[in-house]
Amino acid sequence: MSPSSHPQRRYRTGDQNWVRERNLSIVLRYIWDAGQPIARARLTEISGLNKSTMGNLLAQLQAWRFVRETGTVNVGPGRPGTLIDIDPAGGRFIGTELGVDFISVVLTDLKANIVWRKKIDTNGSARQQAEIIALTEGLFHEAIAEVRAADQRLLGIGVGVPGLVDHATGTLLFAPNLGWSNVPLRDMWQRYGVPVIIENEANAAALGEHMIGTAKNVDNFIYLSAGVGLGGGLMIGGKLYGGMGGYAGEIGHMTLAPDGPQCACGNRGCWETFVGPTAILDRVREAAQAGHTPILMSLPEVRADARAIRMQHVFEAAARGEEAVRHVLDDVGRYLGIGIANLLNAFNPSMVVLGGVLSLAGPYLLPRVRREVDARALSAARSNVEIKLSAFKFDACVMGGASLIAREILNDPSAWKP
Ligand SMILES: [Zn+2]
Repeated sequence: MSPSSHPQRRYRTGDQNWVRERNLSIVLRYIWDAGQPIARARLTEISGLNKSTMGNLLAQLQAWRFVRETGTVNVGPGRPGTLIDIDPAGGRFIGTELGVDFISVVLTDLKANIVWRKKIDTNGSARQQAEIIALTEGLFHEAIAEVRAADQRLLGIGVGVPGLVDHATGTLLFAPNLGWSNVPLRDMWQRYGVPVIIENEANAAALGEHMIGTAKNVDNFIYLSAGVGLGGGLMIGGKLYGGMGGYAGEIGHMTLAPDGPQCACGNRGCWETFVGPTAILDRVREAAQAGHTPILMSLPEVRADARAIRMQHVFEAAARGEEAVRHVLDDVGRYLGIGIANLLNAFNPSMVVLGGVLSLAGPYLLPRVRREVDARALSAARSNVEIKLSAFKFDACVMGGASLIAREILNDPSAWKP
């Protein structure tokens, strides 16, 4: 390929404004990363900026209501130091998950505390696309009414979707489990007059864990998202890794057994066919029909009907000591561990975060996962790796939606001045 066949890269050159914008972003990041009030003197110390520049930058961020003074602290002899924190009243984020069978919307303050939420169960594949979009917009209207009632400003709408996204245009390119393709969601929602960011659900959730969750301040980690299938978000060097077209992270479709079970993607033996929720339910239902799961079948919501078994019932039966169910989960833990060992060897992350429905199965999966990882990953790659559960469980994606907007504000607060 000749060099000219690639688009010309553009780098922004620096001037005085650029330096100020960078410094505003850096100071705001330090305050965000601290996760609690931080002394102004500490900010001066870690940033290396001089006191008067820091005072000037903080005054600006305060005028824009991104930060506030929250009190004083004694940091040694002399006057007490001022404490600075993110101002929760500085604005609101809308975080949304357009799921395969539900729509979930949260409204958060600037510190990502949920102040309002609503969820609608849908049956995505059976309903018309227009109907689901109208339901989503109805939730946006309700959330925006809340923002107005609280006399706040809306900073943006972040949306996680179960499919591939063209980031340049905010178009949902393909969502196999919804049966949607080429939906220009960002264009459709421009009319709300705030930035709208569309992202793959696993990537959004990974970002949420990175900015406010289990992997806060962790720059290299892998997020495993179990919904209908198994997706992944790769955080590498503090950034979501998207690959050439933004489609990286489809780790549920790495081949674990060349002649294994048929996968929805058309291939055989994908990781998802061993550890995805659909695979788990199939195996548990099989055991139930063979009469091996008396505890599970006697649960009131199941009423001896294997088709009624859901993941929460699987975990409940495991908790009550159902041997056959524990056996299935142990086997799932084994395959999860095998896949994670592969990922550790490839990416050398410092953390793996399990989200979605898998995050509920921690006690039954994690010991086996860790054993398998210890047995299989190269020792250099597995040393000091933490395997943890999502901080937000089923809210991981909506919190990621809010984080999509927060990330942009941290990147360039001056572009968001009121
Ligand atoms: Zn597959």
